[in-house]
Amino acid sequence: MKTLRQYIQEARENGAAIGHFNISNVEALNGIVKAARKLNVPVVIGVSEGERDFIGVSQVSALVRSLRQKLNHPIFLNADHTYSFERVKEAIDAGFDMVITDHAGTDIQANIDFTRQAVQYAKEVNEKRANGLDVDVTGKNSLGFPTEVLVEAEIGYIGKSSKVLDGVPTEIPLDENGNIALSALTTAEDASTFVRETGIDLLAPAVGNIHGIVKNAQPKLNIARIAEIAASTDAPLVLHGASGIGNTELAAAVEAGISMVHYNTELRVAYRDALRDSLAQNPNEVAPYKFLASSVEAVEKVVEEKLRIMNKIK
Ligand SMILES: [Zn+2]
Repeated sequence: MKTLRQYIQEARENGAAIGHFNISNVEALNGIVKAARKLNVPVVIGVSEGERDFIGVSQVSALVRSLRQKLNHPIFLNADHTYSFERVKEAIDAGFDMVITDHAGTDIQANIDFTRQAVQYAKEVNEKRANGLDVDVTGKNSLGFPTEVLVEAEIGYIGKSSKVLDGVPTEIPLDENGNIALSALTTAEDASTFVRETGIDLLAPAVGNIHGIVKNAQPKLNIARIAEIAASTDAPLVLHGASGIGNTELAAAVEAGISMVHYNTELRVAYRDALRDSLAQNPNEVAPYKFLASSVEAVEKVVEEKLRIMNKIK
């Protein structure tokens, strides 16, 4: 099996992207893994601080690792949006494959300092593990797979909530068409400077995207800006907040140079709606593995649709 870095590189060379999907529980994980196996493509599982606390930090790491080994399928784990160094360290020590530092709401220097600290720690751990040493207590090579942890950082603010929104958060400026104003987008120059200053492996720029689904008024991505940023840096680009954007727009973003795409809210909606219908139709069912089966299928369906577009599979 290749490393995550190699899969990202491969996607980039092929004009494709790796799918990143968030989970709060094992059912959603199983739905995502089913879709990725069906299409035979790599996949990244994301857990925010809240999501990873709900499952358990070392527990979600063990789950993903055991699936990867048992199924011999490239399934990786990302510590999505991590706000403190303690939590970066916790995720890296627990065997996550990547972490995202998020100080995007703060000033650029604070963002650079925090990100550098994470990059430095990842580098130390990668070197130890490359030499057969492990930083956790379970022994030599306990993680049992190539362990190079990657660091992603975000510049430009794109909101925080993976939920259905009535409108774009008021702190994000809009232009006359209801899209994110150019002044709030990441510039190619800022992107290349930030990557150079921090040494990150992946960059999440603000390119008209926003976390969550905006009811009836999803802003459009700035495809030209994605292409400009992609041309300005060697770091692969990650698109956050893809929920709510159309499939044609997704394909255009990947074509313009996006190498990884994050979905969360669309999966949450599919899961919740399927559960609601299942409970309504079977009010006497008490076995969770029965009343949750349709939620697993609903997540799988959304993930398959997105993975087909990102990986250019008809
Ligand atoms: Zn995100």
